[in-house]
Amino acid sequence: MTVYDQHSRHLRDLRISVTDRCNFRCRYCMPAEIFDQDYAFLPKDHMLTAEEISRLARIFVSLGVRKLRITGGEPLLRKDLPEIITRLASLDVEDISLTTNGSLLARNADKLKEAGLHRITVSLDALDDDTFMYMNGGRGRVLPVLEGIDAAAAAGLSVKVNMVVQKGVNDSAVLPMVEYFRNKGHILRMVEYMDVGNSNGWNREHVVSTKELLQQIGERWPLEPVEPNYIGEVATRYRFLDGGGEVGFISSVTQAFCSSCTRARLSADGTLYTCLFASEGHPLRHLLRSGNSDEEMEGSISSIWANRHDRYSLERETGQNSSSTKVEMSHIGG
Ligand code: SAM
Ligand code: SF4
Ligand code: SF4
Repeated sequence: MTVYDQHSRHLRDLRISVTDRCNFRCRYCMPAEIFDQDYAFLPKDHMLTAEEISRLARIFVSLGVRKLRITGGEPLLRKDLPEIITRLASLDVEDISLTTNGSLLARNADKLKEAGLHRITVSLDALDDDTFMYMNGGRGRVLPVLEGIDAAAAAGLSVKVNMVVQKGVNDSAVLPMVEYFRNKGHILRMVEYMDVGNSNGWNREHVVSTKELLQQIGERWPLEPVEPNYIGEVATRYRFLDGGGEVGFISSVTQAFCSSCTRARLSADGTLYTCLFASEGHPLRHLLRSGNSDEEMEGSISSIWANRHDRYSLERETGQNSSSTKVEMSHIGG
């Protein structure tokens, strides 16, 4: 079955947040002053179990989802993550990936691969501890993340690295990061700093645009554009002319890609969000727990998707959307 929304976008990808907790406190995502010891994280009985996650994922697959991405919070904090992946791997999908801060990856990479994970994206914002620790609230050093990346590659997982670039914070880390990952053969993707949630104090002046990054990187290592792997690919791809591999750019702020956005997001408590910048979600947990059949769940989800009209990033540009309260990134995952 294929379901279309109000702008003729079909439902193709599902991002599943398996926890709202994290061992880091990245300033652009979970600033420590807000996500402190008094912060009300989800109680355990509100979190979906591995079985509930896989049942919902199966229902989404029957509605056309072909790609699953596990995220959080930090998904590796969840003890039953291998079980979740094993269950998802039994579904008829093209791709199962995971986004992680990489801090706990080195000792888990083999287990994730064995469970059936295909690909992994590791977030890393700098190669030097001073910058990295400033950005993650002093919670993690660079070396364990690099070891995690090596372990994931050794386990046979395809690895990408995402770097959020903030002006005046880690823009000086861009060229060292490109140099390091070119030589490793992993695709580094530069992510424009986004106004997700309400707590990171986002300001457009802190965004380093893809245009600026392309110029900076291209001056050092000349680049040429590469065709997208598929229509609607989020990252724009470039190849180093010297054969040093590829680099990608995720330009959510300066080149919004809402018109091809086929992504639904499920939070750890089973709320469905149809946009990263949504103010409100659609609670599915009580439907799951009150005896609804798969067919009834399919009906509810397809009507939510059919009513979807989100285009936040496009509307940000035209000033049409200055949404008041937005869901936090750590709640729905990136
Ligand atoms: N904890 C995992 C991690 O950091 O990879 C998974 C969850 S995290 C919310 C997913 C992605 O969102 C990370 O790559 C992170 O860098 C990115 N992210 C978080 N806040 C962001 C922001 N304000 N702008 C752009 N990317 C952001
Ligand atoms: Fe945690 Fe990832 Fe958010 Fe950083 S970006 S605080 S690692 S969830
Ligand atoms: Fe999709 Fe919303 Fe992002 Fe637009 S702003 S690309 S609709 S998640």
